[in-house]
Amino acid sequence: MRTAIYAGSFDPPTLGHADIIRRGAALFDRLVVAVGNNPAKRYRFDLAERTGLVQASCDGFAHVEVVAFDGLLVDTAAAVGAQVILRGLRPLGDFDLEFRNGLANRDLTGIETVFLLASPDQVYVSSSLVKEIASHGGDVSRYVSKDVLDALRRTS
Ligand code: ADP
Repeated sequence: MRTAIYAGSFDPPTLGHADIIRRGAALFDRLVVAVGNNPAKRYRFDLAERTGLVQASCDGFAHVEVVAFDGLLVDTAAAVGAQVILRGLRPLGDFDLEFRNGLANRDLTGIETVFLLASPDQVYVSSSLVKEIASHGGDVSRYVSKDVLDALRRTS
């Protein structure tokens, strides 16, 4: 059975993340979505909120699970039995960091990273863009789910 792990901050999850989850779920027997909790990072949404919002976007996929993680992604990948790290790749800035992380993760444990190209209508969508627009009262309904829209409104 092929298991992939798709990790991120998901602060908040966007339709770009949902697109990678949907397409990843079609490629692997099991997809584990790992919501990161890095004590050095400041999040707009706490771990429980981010996990809940990601879970809501995975409902309907029987073989997709959501977990929280901290520490090294390769350790969580081993713990959940993932042979592959799944990442989304946007053209505007993702490549250098992803290349470095992908090689480091392979050095650490031999795990391979598989990239899915961002869909054309999602290439410029990021959690930071969503937070920036929402903080000024702008309309982000084309970038996020209804659940995330409600969460942003609740906490603004
Ligand atoms: P991180 O803190 O790891 O950057 P993110 O939640 O920003 O967490 O991103 C997690 C993953 O989702 C990364 O692989 C990122 O490239 C991918 N991703 C984020 N937004 C998009 C998008 N709009 N389209 C495709 N992939 C995306």
